[in-house]
Amino acid sequence: MMKLSFHGAARSVTGSRHMVELPGQRLLLDCGLFQGRREEACEQNRDLGFDPKSVNAVLLSHAHVDHSGALPVLPQHGFSGKVFLTRATADLTQLMLEDSAHVQVSDCSYVNKKEHRKGRASVRPLYNTDDVRKLVRRFEGTRYGDLLKISPRVTASFHDAGHILGSAAIRVKYTSHGNTTTILFSGDLGRSNMPILRDPELPPPCDVLILESTYGDRLHETDREVMKQKALDLLTHAKIHKSKIIVPAFAVGRTQDLVMRIKELVGEGRLDPIPIYIDSPLASRATEVFRRHPECYDEETTKTFNSSGDLFASRYIHFVSSPEESMRLNKMKGPCVIISASGMCEGGRVVHHLKHAIQDEANVIVFVGFQAEHTLGRKLVDGWDVVPIFGIPTPRRAQIVTFNGLSAHADRNDLLAYVRAINPLPAKVFIVHGEEKQALSLGAAIHTEHPGIDVQIPHRGSTHDL
Ligand SMILES: [Zn+2]
Repeated sequence: MMKLSFHGAARSVTGSRHMVELPGQRLLLDCGLFQGRREEACEQNRDLGFDPKSVNAVLLSHAHVDHSGALPVLPQHGFSGKVFLTRATADLTQLMLEDSAHVQVSDCSYVNKKEHRKGRASVRPLYNTDDVRKLVRRFEGTRYGDLLKISPRVTASFHDAGHILGSAAIRVKYTSHGNTTTILFSGDLGRSNMPILRDPELPPPCDVLILESTYGDRLHETDREVMKQKALDLLTHAKIHKSKIIVPAFAVGRTQDLVMRIKELVGEGRLDPIPIYIDSPLASRATEVFRRHPECYDEETTKTFNSSGDLFASRYIHFVSSPEESMRLNKMKGPCVIISASGMCEGGRVVHHLKHAIQDEANVIVFVGFQAEHTLGRKLVDGWDVVPIFGIPTPRRAQIVTFNGLSAHADRNDLLAYVRAINPLPAKVFIVHGEEKQALSLGAAIHTEHPGIDVQIPHRGSTHDL
């Protein structure tokens, strides 16, 4: 009997963890970090919802921490299997996890210093760089399309999801007594015509689909010209008002994407460059990984890469690495753009930038990615006038701009098209990685279009027979 159980990103967005339960073995799809309210996050990241020792192998869809960030917890509790992933994902994930370990250690010591003064208990990091090292030894990098033998009855293959470098939808095939069952896990799906990456591959046939639904009830702006104009207006505003534009962005994916788009505007002669600071050591290192994996590029990027040899270099783009340089940016006057992580403002240098820039109405905070519930980013997107920054209620006077057109996620139409493209249609679809409203809305749309498909919207901790 095959079963699926869901341990995160079920009626929510972060903490992607889904278990394929087969007779005598368990395969974990993703092992993401839960992000949100601190106490809840702490609890859900320390107790993953299953026994790590019982997991035979992990298959990882892509490097983003909401999919990979709890992996180092596995070996702490006796996991001794392999982690299968694409080669670009292996390189990126190693960086992400090392960074995540550093951020946790330094955030914990920052919080502890404050709590200590108030005589409160101390917090400890979920894992450190030693744990990351132990995990990375278990990585088994693969190429798109290769058929991998996971165990005597199970094979798997990775299919380009077009979401970030190395991202994949994963197909798992189980054979027993001459019968086969295939499960396709979408991971996060990208969109067509994104910079650098190829368009998402058409889905291979499957019996069961596990589908993300981040934007399950929303459509993105798809007109490139409208998006460009919006970006130009913003940068012009910055010039006139000497604004700082703070862009909280995932260091991997969004940052490189933004740099490519701004370069395009400057290249077309429509924008006088203003200084752009990529203030994230992780983004700088991730950009190196992008350079090392031209096998993931689309045609246009391959051409640029072959002729110029460097996709990201420019005289107005500055990669900031030392903390001193980063602190100098806090005091600097605009106009400038500061792209910094983390993307949901839950930690990292961007929180310091927000602290310094948020009370000046000339400044603009631009959101380009999805903001999960209860994160600082979500509070800002939702228009809170006072937000907690490092626990201190801080008035917000800076303008907030949301740019969903730059999202690296498929929208509702893309997701419906993905299901439609599976031939023959799957018998079951499980909707994950979306807040309840998005998941329910997408589920209803799939059910209306294909009444024959059994559509489920699993709860966290639920188990389903296949
Ligand atoms: Zn992602």
